[in-house]
Amino acid sequence: MIRTILRLLLLIAIIGAMAAVYYSNDPSCTVWYPKCVMYAITGYKCPGCGIQRLFFHVLHGDVVTGIRYNYFASLVLVYALVLISGYIVPIKGYTKFIREHLVNRYVAYSYLILYVVWWIIRNVLDI
Ligand SMILES: [Zn+2]
Repeated sequence: MIRTILRLLLLIAIIGAMAAVYYSNDPSCTVWYPKCVMYAITGYKCPGCGIQRLFFHVLHGDVVTGIRYNYFASLVLVYALVLISGYIVPIKGYTKFIREHLVNRYVAYSYLILYVVWWIIRNVLDI
C-alpha cells in the first residue's frame, strides 16, 4: 500500500513538474524546447507534432486552441486520463471495467491504425 502511494506521489510530482515547465514557457517562442527531428529534416509533420503547444494552451485554459495543434494527441490524452483514473479511482469494478474494455488488442490495433491515418491526414491537409 505504501509503495502504491509513493508511486502515485512520484507520478503526481513528475506531472506537476512537467506542467510547471510547460505552463511557464511558450514552446512557440522558446528555443530550448526539443524540436521535431522529422519536421526539421523532411518538412512533414510527425503524429506528435504540436503536443508541446497543445500542453501549453490547455494549461492556460485555452483548450480549443490546444486541440487544434494536435487532434489525435487530444484523443490520446483523454484516453490516457480515463485509463489512469481506472487505476487510481477506488470504485469497485471500475478498474476491472477499464482493463477489460480499454486495455486489449482491439484498442491497440485501433490506436495503431488511427495513428497512421492521422499521420497521413495531417500532412495531406496540412493541419
Ligand atoms: Zn513532429
